[in-house]
Amino acid sequence: MRLQGKVAIVTGAGRGIGRAIAHGYGREGAAVVVNYSRSRESAENAAGAIRDAGGRAIAVQADVAHPGGHNALIEAAVKEFGGLDILVNNAGIEIHEPVLDANPETWERIIDVNLKGAYFLSVRAAAVMMGAGGGKIINISSVHDLEPLWNRAIYSISKGGLLMMVKSLALELAEYHICVNAISPGAILTDMNRSHLAQGDRRARLLEQIPLKRIGEAGDIVGAAVFLASSESDYVTGTTIYVDGGLLLHK
Ligand code: NAP
Repeated sequence: MRLQGKVAIVTGAGRGIGRAIAHGYGREGAAVVVNYSRSRESAENAAGAIRDAGGRAIAVQADVAHPGGHNALIEAAVKEFGGLDILVNNAGIEIHEPVLDANPETWERIIDVNLKGAYFLSVRAAAVMMGAGGGKIINISSVHDLEPLWNRAIYSISKGGLLMMVKSLALELAEYHICVNAISPGAILTDMNRSHLAQGDRRARLLEQIPLKRIGEAGDIVGAAVFLASSESDYVTGTTIYVDGGLLLHK
């Protein structure tokens, strides 16, 4: 098991990509803080499934947009499992809004979760990791850190910000043996895009752009997430792994 004895926080782990990563970490031996903001039942189920398989996990409610949520997550990891080795900033929201309808509230909601939340939770986590000799911070970004997404400018801006956040944190935290990286998924079928992809011929048009000719599943992100959390990636920092079926090759 590649994460035996490690303690991980995965934000937004009650559903979708975060849930798959939490399960993957549990299978690899990590104790997992399964964070949720609203999806209590599915987060409790996710943590229960890890425990049923012989692992260690607890579900913890926290809104990553607020410092109080960061404290709750760090405290849970330290009190329940004795420390913190791995943070996955996975929680994210996407709101459709044309640029010409721009609304400051939309900006605040998206940036507070996707970028500001990830930044300040990383800083809090780094303080704990420094004391323990190092750690891994992994950010679930998007191919839209490089390519703008129509009607989702603020989402794309938040992911573009993560690209520089990863590099900036990696630079300043390297001396403490904290590696900071990102995974940028392409199209992964989750609640975030299920109804959008069900409309008209959107799914078929998307498939045309994916060289590997399938839409990804949450499980497709787990291999990269385990690699970046494990000692196999100890010489990898400040970088982004694109897990997109080749989507960016057409851009
Ligand atoms: P999802 O199924 O909609 O899940 C979003 C997750 O974020 C949920 O677990 C949700 O928790 C959590 N979350 C939202 N606001 C939160 C907050 N304030 N505090 C804590 N948790 C919060 O979407 P997903 O596809 O798995 O997305 C996960 C990440 O992957 C996101 O960062 C997204 O941008 C990124 N991504 C997804 C795709 C894709 O195609 N699906 C592609 C590229 C990148 P609750 O349900 O408890 O609120």
